[in-house]
Amino acid sequence: MQVTRRKFFKICAGGMAGTSAAMLGFAPATALAAPREYKLLRGKETRNTCTYCAVGCGMLLYSLGDGAKNSVGKLYHIEGDPDHPVSRGALCPKGAGALDYVNSPRRVKYPEVREAGSSEWKRISWEEAIERIAKHMKADRDANFVLNNENGTPVNRWMTAGFLAGSACSNETGILTQKFVRSLGMIYTDNQASI
Ligand code: SF4
Repeated sequence: MQVTRRKFFKICAGGMAGTSAAMLGFAPATALAAPREYKLLRGKETRNTCTYCAVGCGMLLYSLGDGAKNSVGKLYHIEGDPDHPVSRGALCPKGAGALDYVNSPRRVKYPEVREAGSSEWKRISWEEAIERIAKHMKADRDANFVLNNENGTPVNRWMTAGFLAGSACSNETGILTQKFVRSLGMIYTDNQASI
């Protein structure tokens, strides 16, 4: 913007008048005395990993809730974690918009099952879900476990099921996952994230 000499003096005079008016008490005292409280100060900070993709960016999640047994925490802000070794505070648009899907009314928060022949999903408990998965795994492994290959060489492998560990799994979780599935003889396994 081009500012002429005359305009410059007008701007300065206006600014000085405003400041003087404030000093004489014509401006709201609280607005001058106290800066607005930073909105994250009263929140509970939780570190987590973005669940979207294999990059595994670090997140800081801020929630409100007084910690009482019957109070419900509410997530109200998510931002990149500057101390995270993978992302150093950065989040792509998907990660930066994670607040919306965390708070979405359509988010699935519990296990569901669709029985064979049914078109309906029904809610089940975590205990029932784990038990069902274990039973399915055992039945499939019992039916398809291969002790020896065609040459008679012992192979002890289970090739009709696979296992994928999630995007928020760390290296440590990945190692434990590998130990678990390899102990079953499972060949097809992967870890989505490499963090
Ligand atoms: S913030 Fe983006 S790049 Fe990072 S893990 Fe999430 S989806 Fe992947």
